[in-house]
Amino acid sequence: MNILVIDDSKLMRKMVSAIIADAGDQPYVASGAEQALLMLDKKNIELIFMDVEMPKMNGFELTRLIRSKKRSWIPIIFLTASTDDSHLTKGIESGGDDYIMKPINSVVLAAKIKAMARIVNMKKELDTVNRQLLRLTNVDALTGIMNRRGFNESLKRDWKNHTRERKEISMVFLDIDNFKAFNDNYGHQRGDECLKQFSAVINTQLKRPMDTLARYGGEEFVIILPNTTLDGAALIGSYIIDALADAKIEHQYSPVAPYLTASMGITSSRFSAKNENMFIQQADQAVYKAKKQGRNRYSVYEPL
Ligand code: GH3
Ligand code: MG
Ligand code: MG
Ligand code: MG
Repeated sequence: MNILVIDDSKLMRKMVSAIIADAGDQPYVASGAEQALLMLDKKNIELIFMDVEMPKMNGFELTRLIRSKKRSWIPIIFLTASTDDSHLTKGIESGGDDYIMKPINSVVLAAKIKAMARIVNMKKELDTVNRQLLRLTNVDALTGIMNRRGFNESLKRDWKNHTRERKEISMVFLDIDNFKAFNDNYGHQRGDECLKQFSAVINTQLKRPMDTLARYGGEEFVIILPNTTLDGAALIGSYIIDALADAKIEHQYSPVAPYLTASMGITSSRFSAKNENMFIQQADQAVYKAKKQGRNRYSVYEPL
């Protein structure tokens, strides 16, 4: 573990550091608040030993400051010469987790490190699981691509970047053609299988790491293309049409082609959408046009 010792006494810093090093951990030191905050920013500190009696800012105040900064939780153990019980209460209330009396006993200190390491590891495992869960809430269970919720988050972020950097952003909205007929004739299970295949084919047409493919809902998908011009988006639209023709996902009940096709609506920020919702509406409107013009094609949004 990376352990930070905050104490105004050089002797104490040295002594505690030596015990930490003996326990096989990595000590870092700070003589006061300023140095401590710097260390916390620079190093991945996992445990803090905090002197209580320090000039300028004492240990309780510094603990409160560290806790107020909302960084992820780090256990803080106070080192104090005071034998007053109310001191303990004050320490816990300011956000500390444990307490060691000075003079420091090396056996006690080493044992506290071990106990805290257990809690730190548990916390790390919880964080990992939480991150995984959070990711799952953004993934569509059927296709494995991003779901509507993930799409909303991505678009919000990409749209914000677009307004800040003033780079063109484009969107392709896809709607599978005659999918109801597919389901009605081949059954829902093959319909699900088909949606998986479809999203895999579309995914292969996206080359940039910034591009996002999401399932908007049902048989509707959407692609966000940051830093992409309208022409670039149209090129992707034509690649998708070719890729679906190559994939030949059988759909003999489609009046458009013997294989699965899609209609796409394309828009870009050059049409001055005021916000993300209007941006989506533009793409959706263009899909409608592609459907009307005969399906299996893309159509570009036209401002009225
Ligand atoms: P269009 O060419 O005009 O887009 O016609 P369409 O039949 O594709 O569109 P419509 O909106 O009439 O029907 C969409 C169908 O998609 C309805 C439903 O059977 C099917 N569908 C939607 N979500 C799912 C899903 O998760 N799994 C399966 N198997 N089918 C779905
Ligand atoms: Mg001191
Ligand atoms: Mg639809
Ligand atoms: Mg459809």
